[in-house]
Amino acid sequence: MKQQIPVKKNDYIDVDFIDLTHEGQGVAKINSFPIFVPGGLPGERAQIKVLNVKKNYGYGKLIEMKERSPYRIDIPKTEINKYGGCQLQHMSYEGQLQFKQNRVTQALTRIGKLTDVQIHPIIGMDEPFHYRNKAQVPVGEKDGRLISGFYKPRTHEIIDTDESVIQIEAINEAIRVVKRICDELGIEAYHEEKHTGVLRNIMARFGKQTDELMIVLITKTEKLPHRQEIIDRIVTALPNVKSIVQNINSKRTNVILGDITTVLWGSDVIYDYIGDVKFMISPLSFYQVNPVQTKVLYDKALEYANLTGEEIVIDAYCGIGTISLFLAQKAKKVYGVEVVPDAIEDAKKNAELNGIHHVEFAVGEAETVIPNWAKEGIHADVIVVDPPRKGCAETLLETIIEMKPKRVVYVSCNPATLARDLQILENNGFKTIEVQPVDMFPQTMHVEVIVKLVLKGTAV
Ligand code: SAH
Repeated sequence: MKQQIPVKKNDYIDVDFIDLTHEGQGVAKINSFPIFVPGGLPGERAQIKVLNVKKNYGYGKLIEMKERSPYRIDIPKTEINKYGGCQLQHMSYEGQLQFKQNRVTQALTRIGKLTDVQIHPIIGMDEPFHYRNKAQVPVGEKDGRLISGFYKPRTHEIIDTDESVIQIEAINEAIRVVKRICDELGIEAYHEEKHTGVLRNIMARFGKQTDELMIVLITKTEKLPHRQEIIDRIVTALPNVKSIVQNINSKRTNVILGDITTVLWGSDVIYDYIGDVKFMISPLSFYQVNPVQTKVLYDKALEYANLTGEEIVIDAYCGIGTISLFLAQKAKKVYGVEVVPDAIEDAKKNAELNGIHHVEFAVGEAETVIPNWAKEGIHADVIVVDPPRKGCAETLLETIIEMKPKRVVYVSCNPATLARDLQILENNGFKTIEVQPVDMFPQTMHVEVIVKLVLKGTAV
């Protein structure tokens, strides 16, 4: 039966908000027909205007708030607050944590049918602002001045700002300083349409534990006018800088970084620590953006893996080997697998850097490489998985079920696919013991969860 669409464009209606979309928009339902409204929070009642009606959903605009959420925070209606990527800034941190907790609980009970597992209260941050250790901002020109910030959604119009509430202050400062110096020296911004000009993006990366700062100037041209002067001024203005790098991207593309990187000053990399493990960060390398909560998450991984020094561990979807190296501190041997070759190169370098020799990294799909390892007779006591949003490949789950590790540690950035995968493991010999949500990305909609499963019949 065709569903009746209960609203039409330009209607004014009162609605109750019951949820948030992945982009943080309020979700209201009229006879089960969802309407998405930016700004609405769960528990609120408001009058909205219907702006657009599609077959299965509509969009609306907040007109008048009738009942406010106790978690609502009034923030200025600036473009930065509206489009800056912090979808939950208008909600108190307590409200954000409760929302994320509910999302995990609901996914596990409704999708995963897990009713008797222990879901711990989410671990939030003491200071839920200024945590990001990396920024990359597009550069443009307005009224003859350099501007930088972020693109207004679905446009290539740059909103000029250097005041992100989630970036570490040293990063905000770095972007501000580099922008000012380049502006003073008359460096031309890249013009996207004409494909002319020089400076495309500024990137800054920061080692929270080491205080080391890296600046990357991404240019269209190999030639960087006032090169020496730019370097001298940056070094004077930013005492923490350890590396100034130019990355050349001469293509017409939305991809930020190009293939050629040259060191302008200092080192080609900076370093950071997570716990006692040292990591090398280059302009292109992946590195967790919230180092404080990453430590919290990896400590949990170590606790859930319950290592004595005798275990063989497999780390599936290992990225640059962060979890592998963290667990290697307490394991007999760790095998990491990851599909991106550059990430595996970094993983190997990081192992070397830490003098960790009992790890082995392989490039490939986890669902292909791990069954091959099993065929070669590698037996894992603990398997860690940290898949992207779509969750684990079913064939990987089948392999885990056949391999019968004593414990599985599942790190997830999507409670829905986590719940789906846990149910498969639960139906095939594993028991979910503990679930720990960790807030890796305050002010945003991201939810991270770590789960401990054991093979039924083995000790917890
Ligand atoms: N565990 C890492 C990163 C996990 S992010 C950390 O904590 O830093 C998920 C990773 O899975 C990404 O690096 C992505 O490149 C990788 N990936 C995606 N699909 C994969 C697959 N089928 N097999 C192996 N790795 C995959």
